[in-house]
Amino acid sequence: MSAGPPYEVLAVRYATRRSTRGELFHRHEAHGEPDAEQVIDYYLWVLRGGGGTVLVDTGYDPPAGMRRGRTCLCPPVDALARLGVEPASVSQVLVTHFHYDHIGNLDAFPGAAIVVPERELAFWTGPYGGRGLFAKDVEPGEVARVQEAHRLGRARTIDGTAEVAPGVTSITAGGHSPGQQVVVVETARGPVVLASDAAHFTEEWERDRPFAVVADLEAMYRGYDLLRRLARQPGAVVVPGHDPDVMTRFPDVGGDAAGLAVRVA
Ligand SMILES: [Zn+2]
Repeated sequence: MSAGPPYEVLAVRYATRRSTRGELFHRHEAHGEPDAEQVIDYYLWVLRGGGGTVLVDTGYDPPAGMRRGRTCLCPPVDALARLGVEPASVSQVLVTHFHYDHIGNLDAFPGAAIVVPERELAFWTGPYGGRGLFAKDVEPGEVARVQEAHRLGRARTIDGTAEVAPGVTSITAGGHSPGQQVVVVETARGPVVLASDAAHFTEEWERDRPFAVVADLEAMYRGYDLLRRLARQPGAVVVPGHDPDVMTRFPDVGGDAAGLAVRVA
């Protein structure tokens, strides 16, 4: 990682859903633990620094979330407005994977460069992305939009470990989705590791509890090892992609976005 401008990192919770542990964890019954209610929250992340504003994912398009029974707390674009993020100020959107709750609303940022994982683009436009259980988690129109942006040169692809902006490094982890990314951001407090869906919940990497939606279980476990390694860096903090505890671990941003976002760094 090169020394870039330290970023301010916000986690924005735009939706929520009540579910159960049996539904959310892969083969939950195999752990011999009782089923219980489990809330799953939906986030996107804002990086503000000397290099401009970078969005890590763009949330879901509200109708796509509603069709799946998710409760939208604030449409992502409105949530960003409440945080003072104007669409024109977003220089870059980094897409961690192509699931519907991470790549909606891309049209709202016409001036932003789009960075997408090469393996995600290949998989979701390839022969298996449209099959049964895989297809459930994406919106074909949104995948086609990224494909078109790539064709027009507006979206570029990354693979492996790539510095996508000064001080922002994206790492291909796979597991949950074939090209799932983990994003490491340099901040004044130390590295902030945005796990996105490499770990929806902290207990995934702390207790080795794979998530229910899994494209490659071996890669998912390897992703947990990666998060553990990154967590050991001095001052590091790992932020899971869907865990309600993110909203209580970090201070609320207050102001117009009170209750909607927390300041990770
Ligand atoms: Zn996902």
